[in-house]
Amino acid sequence: MQQLTFLGKNSVAWQEVREPVLQSEQEAIVRPFAAARCDGDSFFLFHDYRKVMPLGVNLNYLDPKVLDVFGNPPLQPPFGVGHEAIGEVTEIGSAVKNVRRGDVVVVPWAISCGHCNPCRRQLPANCSRTDKKTLVSAYGFGAGMGDFGGMVSDKIRVPFADAMLVKIPEGVNPIHCASLSDNISDAYRSVGPQLDKFPEAPVLVFGGNAKSIGLYAAALAVAKGSTQVDYVDDNLERLTIAARVGANPIELRKKQKVSTLSGVLIKEGYPIVVDASGSVTKLAFGIQNLAPGGTATGVAFYVKKRNSLPLWEMYLRSATLHVGISHSRRDIPDVFPLIKSGKFKPEKITTMLADWSDAPEAYLELSTKLIIHRQPLNNSN
Ligand SMILES: [Zn+2]
Ligand SMILES: [Zn+2]
Repeated sequence: MQQLTFLGKNSVAWQEVREPVLQSEQEAIVRPFAAARCDGDSFFLFHDYRKVMPLGVNLNYLDPKVLDVFGNPPLQPPFGVGHEAIGEVTEIGSAVKNVRRGDVVVVPWAISCGHCNPCRRQLPANCSRTDKKTLVSAYGFGAGMGDFGGMVSDKIRVPFADAMLVKIPEGVNPIHCASLSDNISDAYRSVGPQLDKFPEAPVLVFGGNAKSIGLYAAALAVAKGSTQVDYVDDNLERLTIAARVGANPIELRKKQKVSTLSGVLIKEGYPIVVDASGSVTKLAFGIQNLAPGGTATGVAFYVKKRNSLPLWEMYLRSATLHVGISHSRRDIPDVFPLIKSGKFKPEKITTMLADWSDAPEAYLELSTKLIIHRQPLNNSN
């Protein structure tokens, strides 16, 4: 079968690989028909980290744990790319109860068993199932995360079908939801539970490296009823999208210091702050602009060994800082009602819709949110 394969910096291609088969009675095989490119894919698609990352670790600049996650040498090609997809179940093992052949499902980016302690504590991406050899197990990152293949494939194997797969409910168009596997649910965790705690609260979002997550967070915050979503970015396309989803776009030019924004932000502070920029300076500034009791969530990769955060100000504001990987399996079901009600329209954030066969070229475009799609086997899906 064909699998979109990362071959090295700026190079992806279809490669012929062996079809996955069920390896236990708990598994399922899924045929993806909509796949999205995660913001995290840009982390390696356009760079070669095999020498740079170990060097950064040796120089005490990068946290050595980056090699525990990405492998050593890190992100060694070739490997199947993509870890955001929606597809049809084509085969199930005899013990699978929650899905049937033909069901349309979201496949979460991370492998989770549903039974271990982290899974039971609603931390599925930290699953500690006994057979695993990696810190995080996921699709689309190669051997460092367990070699589960990429999701831009004719078929993918799901090791724990009942625990992992989430059926798409009636009334939800699957194409633009492919990022539920990771980026949409990652964005949701940064604003959803927080807006349940502080209804209608203003939200401050820094966009940037995690290009679509910042926009999804802004759109979800509007959908959840925030009265003011201030979205800061230096990218005009993303600022335009932010305005389109109902946020208040604030341009921060490339060299402009983030502290110069103090005059335009809410003086009383924001109960909810999201950093999708990946800049520790912006995250720190966001923390300094928290309202008492507020929560700042960092959704980007922060790989430097030493980071400076304003802990005294956090203390004074009784602030919470939340960083951590996306537990999409936990959060996907909470996003569906917002899509069904029409309050959250993920299609507004899609900047490129490409045919499945054009995936190699499309995957290397620098657009904010790429969706690749093809015809489902069952046309009524
Ligand atoms: Zn991702
Ligand atoms: Zn588990």
